[in-house]
Amino acid sequence: MERKSFLNNFRQVADTIALFLLTFILCYMSGHLRLPLLLSIFWIVNPVIAGIFVRYPSTHRPINYVACGLAMFLNDYLYSGWWSAAILVNLANIIFIAVVALGLERLWTTQREQLTPNQVLLLFPVCLVAALLAGTWGGIASANQKTSTEILLNIALWASEQFSTGLMVLPLILSFKRSQHFVWQRTSILAVLSVPMLFLGAALVGGPGSIAFPLPVLIWCALVLPVFVSTLITFLVGILEIMMVYENLIGEHRVDTPPEIMTLVSIRLGVAAMVLTPFMVSVTIDAIKSLNRRLEIRANTDFLTQLLSRAGLFEKLAEIPLQPGRSIGMILFDIDYFKAINDNFGHQAGDDVLSELGYILRRDCKEQFYVARFGGEEFALIGLDIDAEQLYVQAEALRQRIARHDFALTDRSLSITISLGLAVGVAEKGEQWSKLVTRLVSQADARLYRSKAGGRNLTTPDWSEGSQDISDQKPT
Ligand code: GH3
Ligand code: MG
Ligand code: MG
Repeated sequence: MERKSFLNNFRQVADTIALFLLTFILCYMSGHLRLPLLLSIFWIVNPVIAGIFVRYPSTHRPINYVACGLAMFLNDYLYSGWWSAAILVNLANIIFIAVVALGLERLWTTQREQLTPNQVLLLFPVCLVAALLAGTWGGIASANQKTSTEILLNIALWASEQFSTGLMVLPLILSFKRSQHFVWQRTSILAVLSVPMLFLGAALVGGPGSIAFPLPVLIWCALVLPVFVSTLITFLVGILEIMMVYENLIGEHRVDTPPEIMTLVSIRLGVAAMVLTPFMVSVTIDAIKSLNRRLEIRANTDFLTQLLSRAGLFEKLAEIPLQPGRSIGMILFDIDYFKAINDNFGHQAGDDVLSELGYILRRDCKEQFYVARFGGEEFALIGLDIDAEQLYVQAEALRQRIARHDFALTDRSLSITISLGLAVGVAEKGEQWSKLVTRLVSQADARLYRSKAGGRNLTTPDWSEGSQDISDQKPT
């Protein structure tokens, strides 16, 4: 116990030091992006720290605000020589971090790996409020100007920068390293390659509309790339666009001077609105895909035995090419006197037996067969490229194994037997799985019936009609 709390304390101290260092390094880097008139174009520290607080809630503690604030202050003190101004100005950063961390806390702090569209929707208003509050404070605190217009412009500059940087950086941190089921497609590469092309187009055409040029490609990326990768591309595009506008490469095209403050503010807000769209799309698509996957698993799996359902078996088989001449074997079996188990020991006991039988089948038969629960206490196994003899050997082995097995119930154990019917069929030219399986089921079912009629705990093989007498088999 003591050791655990020591480790916990150690971790918390390490987190605080790491956050202090990270803040300091990011401030230092952002500081070097500072431009003479316009403060920094991207102050990424705030959304990074806020994102960490949201992703790792154990780090969201007052002491860490103090650590980050100290790092910011130290940076300004060392490199700008500020003292009291640094305290006032950096309070704006703390305001942004706190509003974002508290605003996103409830919906975003979740154990679930999957992001939801609602979480993404919340980013916009939370970033807006955080940017307005931080911007107002920062704009006033950092204004050397005297006129109210200049102060207002300063606020607009701060708020728009925090808003757009927040919307570009937060999705990156919030989607980083989240597990996701993703399949690469050829269009994924094509989508990535199209991004620079549209950029080139935007630079060639120019004008205010050109900032929206990359949007279709970003949406395309969102559809065919993992959430984090598409978010990273959107982030880079957003940053590049703002820099290109600043350098007069796209946007308003003023020849000699950097864009005026209000133009830059407007472009930033435009980019902010644009970058959220691909994130929204990719998270929504991911949520739909994952829901589809869950529904598919539920529809194709039998809950009690965790085997394939009848529909699931057909779905699985449909994925396999059925070349003419391919020999397909089916074992159909039914538990003997199963109703008596329910009647004597209760329905739960019957369920327990079915569930344990499911476990045995998954453990022993999944390598050679597709195993499905066909109905109540009836099961089907499909083997590919198997002949009648091999199928019979396997079926007999299964029958004997089950007859020997003790099924553990809560207060007792019991044994069961099964009756089996086999069928082997050769795929005809152009034959579909459904037709072949239907043919096999009807043959195997007739033989299963013969096993029941023959005294149960029997296997009736494929060749049984005619020569061989099934009563030769001695149940073990
Ligand atoms: P036979 O040897 O002729 O197959 O006799 P049986 O008693 O096994 O056959 P019958 O078809 O009369 O009974 C099957 C029973 O299986 C009836 C049904 O209540 C029970 N059953 C079907 N599905 C389930 C289930 O999911 N759980 C439980 N506990 N029982 C089930
Ligand atoms: Mg039965
Ligand atoms: Mg039955």
